[in-house]
Amino acid sequence: MVEKEEKESLKRGIAEQVNVMKGRGAPKSMAPFYKAAERMLDIPESPSVGYMCEFVPIELITAAGATPFRMCTGTQETTFRAEEYLPQSFCPLVKSTMGFFREDADFDLVVIPATCDGRRHLGELFGDDVRVHVMDVPATGETIQSRELWYQEVLRLKKVIEKATKKKITAKKLRASIDRENQKRDLLKQLYEPRTGDFQLAGSDLMLMVQLSHVMSTDEWIGHVRKVIAETTSGSAKRKKGKTWGDDQPRILLSGSPVIMPNWKIPLLIEESGGALVVDNLCSASRVMWIRAEPAGSSMQELMLSIAERQLMSLCPCQIPFEPAWLRLKALIEDYRIDGIVHHVLQSCHLFGVESALMRSELDKMGVSLLALETDYSQEDVEQLRTRIEAFLEMIEARMER
Ligand code: SF4
Ligand code: SF4
Repeated sequence: MVEKEEKESLKRGIAEQVNVMKGRGAPKSMAPFYKAAERMLDIPESPSVGYMCEFVPIELITAAGATPFRMCTGTQETTFRAEEYLPQSFCPLVKSTMGFFREDADFDLVVIPATCDGRRHLGELFGDDVRVHVMDVPATGETIQSRELWYQEVLRLKKVIEKATKKKITAKKLRASIDRENQKRDLLKQLYEPRTGDFQLAGSDLMLMVQLSHVMSTDEWIGHVRKVIAETTSGSAKRKKGKTWGDDQPRILLSGSPVIMPNWKIPLLIEESGGALVVDNLCSASRVMWIRAEPAGSSMQELMLSIAERQLMSLCPCQIPFEPAWLRLKALIEDYRIDGIVHHVLQSCHLFGVESALMRSELDKMGVSLLALETDYSQEDVEQLRTRIEAFLEMIEARMER
């Protein structure tokens, strides 16, 4: 059980990061998001379904009247707890999540997609009183067989959720959930749209808002996002000394392993060092919004197919080939006029380690610089990371002045 004092310390960790963001003079409409960050690690009341990873179609959870809760955790304190039973060299995201929830998974159901070696056997580490469901994620979404397998997995998940919540998922409820999630994705797109030129909202603020979409109620989240859009597109939001982010700074895209609050060191270091964090390609942030579920009709089969298909387009490197993911990245680079990419690789995350090698050769051809940073959840490497990020930005600035 995560002790009360430990939870307080985790909350303090989140508050520290949020204070840095507040101190930069953010738009006023960001205030409710900074406040909501304090409850990031509070498990919602029953019925609730904890899930790890974006492969879980949360439309099924909300259609059953349950609250979805993304369990991915970014706290270093709980990684130590997990090292009692997991190798120290394991991915910090897995260690942190298990350290936090293994003995405190007070959900009606926990769903774990088996996307990588770190996740495959996690379900077996929970106690008998935790109901865990593991999803078999195909290694490719490109064949008829793999798509059928995934569709069957999503059907199986529907039954498991219905059993755990004792609620029937009807076509009407599922359609309403799909529409609601699409509405959230459309709002996020509106937030990212102005970032092709100068913009007022820091990239780390945007990333926080996306993560809070997994924590705040949908209505609450939508209401506050609308206010941010109104403020940041009306020209009324002025950062300190009228500062905006954008064209006179190196325009940076952040990609790689998920970046989870309070492990916020990479986005904050980019911005503190003078980079404009224009867009990201992270499943913990904007990657959730690019694809809508598009049902061909309102039958249960059509609705289920649409959420299954959407999930297969998530472009996670746990699936082959790399080409569709590269085409998305290339489009982001062109649309957002990106000068350089910072690729975040969590310790022992081989998926994103290999992805950086695949990206490098393509980026060289486009003349876009890449900085791959391998790190964990500790603060010990912050100054070393700062030096590398500053050098990377200086190199881009020198190129911009030529
Ligand atoms: S990187 Fe891939 S496997 Fe990991 S949480 Fe994101 S979508 Fe899931
Ligand atoms: S960061 Fe990498 S190793 Fe860790 S859970 Fe995600 S995909 Fe697996």
